[in-house]
Amino acid sequence: MADAIRKIVIVGGGTTGWMAAASLSRYVADKEISVTLIESPDIGAVGVGEATIPNIVAFNKELGIDEVELIKATQATFKLGIEFKDWHKKGERFFHPFADYGLKIDNVEFHHYVNRMKAEGLDVNLQDYSFACALAKEGRFAQPNAGPQSPLADYSYAYHFDASLYAKFLNKFSVQNGIKHISANVCAVNLNNDSGFIESVTLDDGLKIEADLFIDCSGFKGLLINGAMGVGLTDLSKWLPCDRAVAIQTELVDEPTPYTIASARDAGWQWCIPLQHRMGNGYIYSSQFCDNQMAQDELLANIKGKAINDIRQFDLPLGAREVIWHKNCFALGLAAGFLEPLESLGLSLIQTALTKLYTFFPDKSFNQHDIKEVNRLHNTEIERIVDFLALHYKLTSRDDTEFWRYCQNMPISDSLAHKIEVFKSQGHIVQYDHESFEEASWLSMYHGFNVNPRRFDVRAKNINIDTVEKNLLQMKNSMQSAAKQAMSHQEFINKHCRAVCDI
Ligand SMILES: Cc1cc2nc3c(=O)[nH]c(=O)nc-3n(C[C@H](O)[C@H](O)[C@H](O)COP(=O)(O)OP(=O)(O)OC[C@H]3O[C@@H](n4cnc5c(N)ncnc54)[C@H](O)[C@@H]3O)c2cc1C
Repeated sequence: MADAIRKIVIVGGGTTGWMAAASLSRYVADKEISVTLIESPDIGAVGVGEATIPNIVAFNKELGIDEVELIKATQATFKLGIEFKDWHKKGERFFHPFADYGLKIDNVEFHHYVNRMKAEGLDVNLQDYSFACALAKEGRFAQPNAGPQSPLADYSYAYHFDASLYAKFLNKFSVQNGIKHISANVCAVNLNNDSGFIESVTLDDGLKIEADLFIDCSGFKGLLINGAMGVGLTDLSKWLPCDRAVAIQTELVDEPTPYTIASARDAGWQWCIPLQHRMGNGYIYSSQFCDNQMAQDELLANIKGKAINDIRQFDLPLGAREVIWHKNCFALGLAAGFLEPLESLGLSLIQTALTKLYTFFPDKSFNQHDIKEVNRLHNTEIERIVDFLALHYKLTSRDDTEFWRYCQNMPISDSLAHKIEVFKSQGHIVQYDHESFEEASWLSMYHGFNVNPRRFDVRAKNINIDTVEKNLLQMKNSMQSAAKQAMSHQEFINKHCRAVCDI
């Protein structure tokens, strides 16, 4: 049997590095396995990445982190989903909740009855059958706590938080739990001449740090995986049109919404992410249709409140690392690639990659089949996500700018084309293995972009239309009245988790 891994080195102390460190301290580090994180005192972290999806709640919980303590420390607010403004047509909006819609009727999925009612000319909106949508519409928040059968419990939530404060929080947590922290620049990565494995990294004071496994969390450049090992990026710009961003933070003017706002703009889209103490704003755009100055002007014209930092510009290398695991180097976060943040997946991809690492945790023989399997699973996950992101652009009916006309006509993968056509036929959602977005998310998009199937599922015909209407009305009323009982998002924060002082 090959020897066990004894030493792990993480290079990079942005959100990724500290998420990896915290997680390794919980699942892997012990008396026999040491974990060291090396972080440059000179190279700053990206510091954006403030909207999350619900698995971040589970991530922190599994680490044993107290939720209220975390929320206070990171100035976090709650997120029930994303409001999409002006994506289908200017003036229209829809919500993508972290939730399912309605309840099965006669063992047939709920949305087929919505399709039937639409086909019969009745005015029906899928969003009226999600408690999370009802809460969001009212600007209210409650944590899901009813029985599993209740549509009032069938939703999840995530956070908006200050990414730098989150990294700081996890830094403290990790060090308390045995992770060694070195503040230094890695200036060389030393490979074994025969095997090509990483043997050590050299710090700027000349010290060499050896390890069995290296985790590259060094950001876009991928100092180890790319710089030393030459693993490149698979270009995704064919499917995802936005390749630049500008971002600015502003004072909070209104009460924070319990959701992210993604507003379509002339050459891309703008995010608004409310925290307890400020608003994060950014504009992601296509350099083919908009230059940096135009983007800055458009962002500044669409923010509320006084700016509290300088506007920041990002070139986004849109692409996924060809493989995230090569020899004894495992890449995470921006070192593993970048998909645009439309569905706030950056931090979630760190979590899912870590789970794969633990599932196939190596010994010193670094079994090639395990490595290949992790890379296969990761690449499949990315392909599915890219399809879902591309859907947001492809389904637009906007033709008022060159960018949106381009999106309507842009190429899409065969798998996405197949999914759209299957939905257009009878309203069925195609789900492949390793989908990050479940049926309800795809439904949110199809309905939000007003894509209606030509026919509805034949089983939805078995019940008299009046009974269906009555059933739906009851569901809608119960969700709306329950939503009105909940506290406003701001009241909920004030009562349970108000950050003690503004940062
Ligand atoms: C515009 C934009 C918006 C985004 N929005 C979201 C979002 O809403 N939600 C979401 O989940 N994700 C989002 N992301 C992604 C998210 O920001 C990243 O996943 C997250 O910040 C993690 O970054 P990182 O830690 O991998 O890299 P970085 O933040 O770049 O950190 C790299 C670390 O490596 C260190 N380092 C670099 N070189 C060396 C060296 N030579 N020696 C030692 N240390 C070194 C640096 O000091 C730093 O600590 C967004 C990204 C961008 C660009």
